[in-house]
Amino acid sequence: MERKTYFVDLILPLPVPGTFTYRVPFEFNDWLKVGIRVVVQFGSRKVYAAIVKEIHERIPQDYTPKYILAILDSEAIVYPDQLKMWEWMSHYYLSSIGEVMNAALPSAFKLSSESKLLLNPSFQLGEITLNEKEELILIALQNQDSISLSQAADITDQKKVFPIIKGLIEKGMLLMEEELQEKYKAKKQSLIQLNKEYNSEESIRNLFEILEKKAYKQLEVVMAYLHLAQREGKTDAIIRKKAVLSQLDNGTAALKALEKKGVFRIFEQNISRLKDVAKTKKIEDIIFSNAQQKAMDELQSILIEKTTCLLHGITGSGKTEIYIKAMAEVVNEGKQVLYLLPEIALTSQIVNRLRLYFGEKVGVYHSRYNIHERVEIWNKVLQEKEGEMSYQIILSARSGIFLPFKNLGLIIVDEEHDSSYKQFDPAPRYHARDMALVLAQQHQAKVILGSATPAVETFYNARSGKFGLVNLKERYGEGRLPEILIGDLKNETRRKTMNGHFSTFLINHIKAALERKEQIILFQNRRGFAPRLECEQCNWIPQCPNCDVSLVYHKNQNRLRCHICGYSTHLIHKCSDCGSDEVRMKGFGTEKIEEDLGIMLPEARIKRLDLDTTRAKNAYENIFESFTDHQIDILVGTQMVTKGLDFENVSVVGVLNADNMINFPDFRAFERSFQMLVQVSGRAGRKKKKGKVIIQSFNPYHSVIQYVMNNDYQKMYDTQILERRNFKYPPFYRLIKFSLRHKDYRELNNAAADFAQLLREKFGARVLGPEYPMVAKIRGYFLKEVLLKLEKGFKTDHSRKEIKTIIDTFNSGKQYKAIRIIIDVDPM
Ligand code: ADP
Ligand code: ZN
Ligand code: ZN
Repeated sequence: MERKTYFVDLILPLPVPGTFTYRVPFEFNDWLKVGIRVVVQFGSRKVYAAIVKEIHERIPQDYTPKYILAILDSEAIVYPDQLKMWEWMSHYYLSSIGEVMNAALPSAFKLSSESKLLLNPSFQLGEITLNEKEELILIALQNQDSISLSQAADITDQKKVFPIIKGLIEKGMLLMEEELQEKYKAKKQSLIQLNKEYNSEESIRNLFEILEKKAYKQLEVVMAYLHLAQREGKTDAIIRKKAVLSQLDNGTAALKALEKKGVFRIFEQNISRLKDVAKTKKIEDIIFSNAQQKAMDELQSILIEKTTCLLHGITGSGKTEIYIKAMAEVVNEGKQVLYLLPEIALTSQIVNRLRLYFGEKVGVYHSRYNIHERVEIWNKVLQEKEGEMSYQIILSARSGIFLPFKNLGLIIVDEEHDSSYKQFDPAPRYHARDMALVLAQQHQAKVILGSATPAVETFYNARSGKFGLVNLKERYGEGRLPEILIGDLKNETRRKTMNGHFSTFLINHIKAALERKEQIILFQNRRGFAPRLECEQCNWIPQCPNCDVSLVYHKNQNRLRCHICGYSTHLIHKCSDCGSDEVRMKGFGTEKIEEDLGIMLPEARIKRLDLDTTRAKNAYENIFESFTDHQIDILVGTQMVTKGLDFENVSVVGVLNADNMINFPDFRAFERSFQMLVQVSGRAGRKKKKGKVIIQSFNPYHSVIQYVMNNDYQKMYDTQILERRNFKYPPFYRLIKFSLRHKDYRELNNAAADFAQLLREKFGARVLGPEYPMVAKIRGYFLKEVLLKLEKGFKTDHSRKEIKTIIDTFNSGKQYKAIRIIIDVDPM
């Protein structure tokens, strides 16, 4: 072993800028690699797993570096290309590379002395053999619910604990705490194995003789087992209990008896949710319509020249089939595909559709899956070797861009306009669609952006030639676009024909659809029962004590709740301002719609799909399935119902109130309302029947509603792009939003004014504010915003450096140390 002195530059999972240099003890020299994790101490007590970014021999001049304590991985878990992407992201989104690391790695990779560990509830003792140290950790966890990694270190030994914990996580014994909050529940199956004592020809013959006379059913079970075991090539093969029992009638009791006698061992095993798939269709089975074929041809020829192509196809036009064929070609070339979706709720439908064609090649990566599977997928993508790829297609929400792809050929960004592609909190506040382009560049891969309602920025890029553009303007097959009608709220209110929040027009359509045994989707953009209470005498509104929003009444729990911080309190009947007891509920949410409908249409089967009804794991899937099976007539929901659902039997879609969406004070409100209304309309009449969409509004001649009625994306785009240009918004200007946060209102005001001044010195009139945002207080902190509008092409790198310097100066002064500045590049 060479006795050279090496240093490593490490990325630590912290919101502090830059990398950190540590010294390598000689005995680790041979194990060093870029992209592996090492354990280091940072600060006086804390210990972290950090990523090796660079190995070098440059001795730090002004301080004595600490030694690294241990090495966690034998192979890199992150490629050099990924590290480059992390750097890019950290630079562009003005966040630390440690924050990027935190977003990028599955949490099981991010060990620190503060990590909380739990026993995996589905772990079974005896599944693995433990050594002495591991045994000690197990005992500790049997006595308390969780222990921190530093406690584990006290039990074992500081230097060794990280590798031990890493091993136990990989073996499935331990979980990290954040994991369990997601209600981890493993899927299990029962397995049978012949016990050793019976595993010889002689003992089987003896067993047969006994059973033949006394217990014929048991003999049948043994024979069924042996039959299946022989197919596996071993008389004591492990066979699924279900498979054995399906060979005969009523074998359960007999099998139990055999277990008692010690003939069989029956045990449970977790099965990966990702594997039970059958590939039943061939790509050649997809017969394109003429329009699809034309789109596909165009797409392919565009992607020879360009990296990115927008597929602008109306709802139900069959974009997914086009993706599938495009993916198949890339898969055949032996390359990987990343399929991005805005939300994981949508994956279960699409994953089933893809698995019909690609079977086990499809893997799902998302933070809702348990930690073990996330690491499993990460490792599988990492280990892809040519010729033996297991997951060639990865389906994922935004975090999929961080996976260790080796030879990515294609990225599909489905519903590219969706704002859930943007990470809001914490930093880095990245946009996965935009990062997909960066990722594709690294791999020389292609990108297909698909949407019925592209983001204005995307369409602009397509029009200006940066992206290719392919149109698909008709629905597949006999599907036709729905007819869009108006429920005129002003008119019906005047004529007194409203039934609560329902126009007679909408109710009549709902009733008619019910009579025809067709289904209905109703959309209301608020959850809960009433968005606010209000005093009739003095207009006092109960507010959250921590946030600048009104409390929402939830009838189900009979409580008022804050939708931002979760604060809740009992229902208020008396005004705290004037003492009047005329406190009334105002506005309406999905809960109220559900209740009112139930009273008006007692026969109808009504269900609600919103955040409140889908908190439990699989709740979304269950509602979705019962709607598909027509066990629900009317589905009432928030934006969840606007996304991706493809129901055959829906003939009426109702939008309860389009106005509050349109009037939202945001430069994207117009675009967003258009997208929302078109997407929800797209749920109607997707198969043969022509559906109807009824939009209720007080202002039916508003241009957004007119564009939706005429299905005129182009007009919407034209008006918006003009406004964007006139009022200096994207795509012509790049926005960077700074939100300053502090508990003290006055201090915040001063700080924000000074900060804006510092920015103005460098950027002049490009700085707007400070201003109070729409919600000016969140969780007890006051907020003030400063907006920077940089014209496209304006000294991009240079301005980032200036911003960093300004923030450093600002924060390093004593005065504003406690002010937090949240930076959002390209805010949504
Ligand atoms: P989009 O994603 O564009 O809204 P989908 O891809 O969901 O539309 O297609 C709408 C419906 O038409 C789906 O049920 C899909 O299976 C069906 N479909 C589309 N193209 C084909 C095709 N070539 N062959 C058979 N069915 C198709
Ligand atoms: Zn009052
Ligand atoms: Zn609150």
